[in-house]
Amino acid sequence: MPARLIDGKAIAERIQTETASEIARLKAEHNLTPGLAVILVGENPASVAYVSSKDKMCTRLGMHSLRLNLPASTTEGELLAKINDLNFDRTIHGILVQAPLPPHISEDVIFAGVDPTKDVDCFHPLNIGKLALGDDSGFFPCTPAGIQQLLIRSGVPIEGRHVVVLGRSRIVGRPVSLILSQKAKNANATVTVCHSRSANLAEICRSADILVAAIGVAHFVKAEMVREGAVVIDVGINRVEDKTAAKGYRLVGDVDFEPVSLKAGLITPVPGGVGPMTIAMLMHNTVRAAKLRHGIE
Ligand code: NDP
Repeated sequence: MPARLIDGKAIAERIQTETASEIARLKAEHNLTPGLAVILVGENPASVAYVSSKDKMCTRLGMHSLRLNLPASTTEGELLAKINDLNFDRTIHGILVQAPLPPHISEDVIFAGVDPTKDVDCFHPLNIGKLALGDDSGFFPCTPAGIQQLLIRSGVPIEGRHVVVLGRSRIVGRPVSLILSQKAKNANATVTVCHSRSANLAEICRSADILVAAIGVAHFVKAEMVREGAVVIDVGINRVEDKTAAKGYRLVGDVDFEPVSLKAGLITPVPGGVGPMTIAMLMHNTVRAAKLRHGIE
């Protein structure tokens, strides 16, 4: 039987609706408008598109949004100075510096320059450390938090399940493994993290109740790597040439969707699976940052 689709677009939309009503409540009851600043350095087309969609979403939800477009020639010091201004700006509760940054700027230095209480992307070492320690006073990074929400809101039990994560990056693989293995509600999974040096990858994948693919290799996960009835979360966004498509390419995930969907129990499509969740969690984190700053439950 073909797998049931996890509709990330619909789930993200529900989260946005919840966030919008929370923003309306904060305005009405506390005279507080959550604010997000997004900084873009240079003109990388994918980054421009991401930043625009974040901007539009802020407006749609009733959030204050500030966008800084800086030239690619901006120095590390100049960028840090802008971030520092935003760290002290009382109308701004979340700061996001769009990656990738030009090569002359160290992302580590920049991410560490953001006030940890405004670090809604969870790239600051303090927030990553809190996540590793199971301290929930920080933020969950957006894509991994979105993956957990997809599972929860699709009724997938996580506790006690074997989760195999393909990929150990700082933005997806590593943090999603930390979130799902936490000693907490909607977590408590047994997590195996795989990477490019892992041996017996197919065998490990076949032992997964929940398989999260985040490696950036189109169609990497084949049907024979998936257990019958498993939940498959495809984080990958890969361009493959397609002359019939308007742009000359189409987006595919890390999972060989058609054959895998005949074997899996539940599966996320690409696009329309994990992708829309990232921005939904960014908005959620910004509202949380505003509430934490003002001591609001
Ligand atoms: P990175 O390139 O930072 O990390 C890739 C990881 O996959 C690394 O840990 C790497 O191993 C591992 N890997 C690569 N090739 C293999 C292989 N053949 N076998 C096993 N492991 C392998 O990627 P990201 O985590 O940033 O992104 C992963 C994918 O998710 C990309 O397609 C990206 O576009 C997408 N993405 C989607 C988002 C969304 O909102 N939906 C958000 C962020 C990313 P090693 O560490 O050994 O090098």
